[in-house]
Amino acid sequence: MAPPARFQLNLVGDVMLGRLIDQLLPTHVHCPEDAAHVANFVEGSPYLRNYGFKTPWGNTLPLFHAAHFNLINLETSVTTHPIPWPNKVFNYRMHPTNVQCLKEARINYATLANNHTLDFSREGLLETVRAAKHAGIAFAGAGETQDEARRPAVLQLKDKDTAYNIHVYAASDHPHDWSEVPNFHLIDYQPATRSRLKALLTSAPQRPDLSIFSVHWGPNYAWTPADEIRSLAHFLIDECDIDLVHGHSSHHIQGVEVYKEKLIIYGCGDFVDDYAVNATYRNDLSAIWRVGVETSSGPSGKRLRVERLEVFPCRIKRFQANLLEEGDADHSWVSNKLRELSKHLGTEIRKDLGEDGKIILAIR
Ligand SMILES: [Zn+2]
Repeated sequence: MAPPARFQLNLVGDVMLGRLIDQLLPTHVHCPEDAAHVANFVEGSPYLRNYGFKTPWGNTLPLFHAAHFNLINLETSVTTHPIPWPNKVFNYRMHPTNVQCLKEARINYATLANNHTLDFSREGLLETVRAAKHAGIAFAGAGETQDEARRPAVLQLKDKDTAYNIHVYAASDHPHDWSEVPNFHLIDYQPATRSRLKALLTSAPQRPDLSIFSVHWGPNYAWTPADEIRSLAHFLIDECDIDLVHGHSSHHIQGVEVYKEKLIIYGCGDFVDDYAVNATYRNDLSAIWRVGVETSSGPSGKRLRVERLEVFPCRIKRFQANLLEEGDADHSWVSNKLRELSKHLGTEIRKDLGEDGKIILAIR
């Protein structure tokens, strides 16, 4: 019998390349206020003068380049459109030229269902979608039509002569006032939404080899997912054929749960951004969540199944993400916090670390 095909998928949470990061890049949107703010940082840290497309990723780039598939939540609009969504506290945008940052890390897929895709109105959403298309980056959660916003991104992993299909769906549970926008995929926790999701997620003419649900959910700064969030995650696995839930939004890491041999990452945390640091929730600390999948032959035919999660702790500093070394106190912070939060969800993380200092969870 042929050995199973194995693939590594990197998942990260919020990638926010707008606002100050956009201003640090050579081409940026016109915003004198942010430009003045960033000039102060550059004065204090002259190396920021050379900030380029690779800079946001720091020393993490080789991990992205080594993976078969890289998936992010793009926490900003990609547009030069000048009119912000009204009465919103934070409106983020990045210049379409700077999509090159995503290309440098070989990002294959970006979730566009989050609370910033419409920050510069419907025009900004459409420009974001077109920028992703132009760059050849798959996306879900927003689109030029309602159908495009809801349907999955379809990607392929190849091993020798065999191709495996991955479907990635995306949705956000906020902001509620975007419910009037059909080409943004908003969800809630009502029974009608569950029925709609079940119909959507199980309607593909051909069942994919792996199904991922990427979801921007829950309030900021909450360690434990609310009951309705956990219940929805279980529903996605129980009734919608989802293998892997990619959760984000809280700005910090949350626990992971192995449920019926499937994996739920409730909160990936912020991977790179320009935010101030919250000393309690440590929104500057997150990780690259590397998911190992392999082929298995079961009663329902040959599929990919999730075998393993490896967590590489990272820290954002001065608009850049970097891997943390094993001896760093912040590495221990991520390690301990993830163990504690996952244990609370009934999932035990291995006590020892991998050879690269990664935190390991075996799924079965
Ligand atoms: Zn968000």
